[in-house]
Amino acid sequence: MIESFRELGLDESILRAVIKKGFEEPTPVQKAVIPLFLREEKDIIAQAQTGTGKTAAFGLPLIHLLKECREPVSALVLTPTRELALQVHEELASFAENTSLKIGLIYGGQSYTEQLRRLKQGVQIVVGTPGRLLDLVDKGKLELSNIRYLILDEADEMLNLGFLDDVERIIGLTPSRRRILLFSATIPQAILEVSRKFMADPHLVKIATPLDQSGTTSQIYYEVEEKDKFEALCRIIDSAEDFYAIVFCRTKIEVDELAQRLVQRGYDADCLHGDLSQSQRELTLKKFRDRRITTLVATDVAARGIDILDLTHVINFHLPQDSESYIHRIGRTGRAGKSGTAITLITPAEFRRFRYLQKDSRQEMVKHRLPDVSTILKIKKQRIQNEIAAKLKDPIPEAIREWSLELQESFPDENLLAGVLALAFEDQLNPSIYQPIDEIRHTPPILRNGEQESARLYLSLGREHGYSPRKIVELIKERAGTRDHKISDICVLDKGTYLSVPLREAEFILRKMQGLVRREKSGQSRHPQRPWRPRKR
Ligand code: AMP
Repeated sequence: MIESFRELGLDESILRAVIKKGFEEPTPVQKAVIPLFLREEKDIIAQAQTGTGKTAAFGLPLIHLLKECREPVSALVLTPTRELALQVHEELASFAENTSLKIGLIYGGQSYTEQLRRLKQGVQIVVGTPGRLLDLVDKGKLELSNIRYLILDEADEMLNLGFLDDVERIIGLTPSRRRILLFSATIPQAILEVSRKFMADPHLVKIATPLDQSGTTSQIYYEVEEKDKFEALCRIIDSAEDFYAIVFCRTKIEVDELAQRLVQRGYDADCLHGDLSQSQRELTLKKFRDRRITTLVATDVAARGIDILDLTHVINFHLPQDSESYIHRIGRTGRAGKSGTAITLITPAEFRRFRYLQKDSRQEMVKHRLPDVSTILKIKKQRIQNEIAAKLKDPIPEAIREWSLELQESFPDENLLAGVLALAFEDQLNPSIYQPIDEIRHTPPILRNGEQESARLYLSLGREHGYSPRKIVELIKERAGTRDHKISDICVLDKGTYLSVPLREAEFILRKMQGLVRREKSGQSRHPQRPWRPRKR
């Protein structure tokens, strides 16, 4: 069993870079992939997501194998997004700092000049996104015939973003004797097909999600009405010891709106979604990394692949689409031995879907009550008190000390300190900034002969086809005659819609909507009101 980086057989110059980065022990994906990459000849498929240390898993052995190499473009790392390309490039450059290897970065949305200048200088490793890479190949500026190692990073995301053809074309342009390493969070059919087409008898490596390794993320949920979600979020932020978080919303518009409301309320917040320009996204991410922004509101897609460690919280302002995205979202906190909190806000309408999500993701989520205003104010005061105590331990500048004496002379009033505190903290400690939050009362429905049992269906019509929840209900009503109130928990996405219907009517609806609807695998919750107990791992 490999315990240290030294045992992996990496060159001393690379180990020095690893130590400088502060890595102490290889992560599971590194322990699995590095020896295979170094000592064997086969291709590798590794199922691992962001945060498992996958960049180093391919990066360290790649640099080791190429450290003496002078040939241009001997390795290519393909990534789905510019952010990931930037991140991978930065990480590889840090591993290679004691070698003479040069690493190029190629992605769209940026001028060709700088990228071409760098290519001309001769780079051994290229990191890039498919579109711009092919563009340069077609312009005759980039040769892929020399590639020895081809790495496909976040292959499933490349697929989701529609890069499959481009990726296949790129693989086809590389020599057949090159080795391919494919990293992907999930391995859908299309990826298996790519591997069958281009990879010969690959090694398969499967790594648990980052969450499974750390086990230090506590998962809690609050039940609130939709209208109270914002207020609930403010209370969560204000009562946290430290708050450095991504808040996930469903759509770009919701992301924008929420970030704006947070800023208006005085929080250091910003948003990240697909409509922002590349430079805006980079600026926002930089501010978030530097902690000038502490709350980043984002969509799943925009946040994918962004590796920011040490988040204290992940907030699901809206429920994720499925259990896989839930795991992916919350895997961003509670890393590297630190503790983190994943918080989900759910409305009564979402409750059933939430139960299903809990069950499907096999996660234990505990219900908490939101802190009341007096508790939050107590926490805030304690925080201020701690800051004062910390300040008093440092030397106080002479000018401030002198001024303090002058003030005590000018205001010999016992209220001087109260006046200073009011000036500094009155706004923060004003209870009226908090709005009341309605209590959710549950009236558990009585199960009579399976009356409340429901089935979760997926309909392949979504926003892109002009459907809203209302229109979905009308369509089902028209085709299957289902009464409005029997269709619940409708979640319209871009390409499809999830909805719940009574179990007894599900088969009939499936028949009537033939071809358009399918039943979700385990979406049928037979006992929706029975509390679910997590399975032991
Ligand atoms: P990745 O999954 O490649 O996006 O890596 C996630 C983060 O973990 C990056 O910031 C890496 O620098 C960091 N990392 C990778 N390997 C290790 C390790 N063995 N120990 C500590 N941190 C690591």
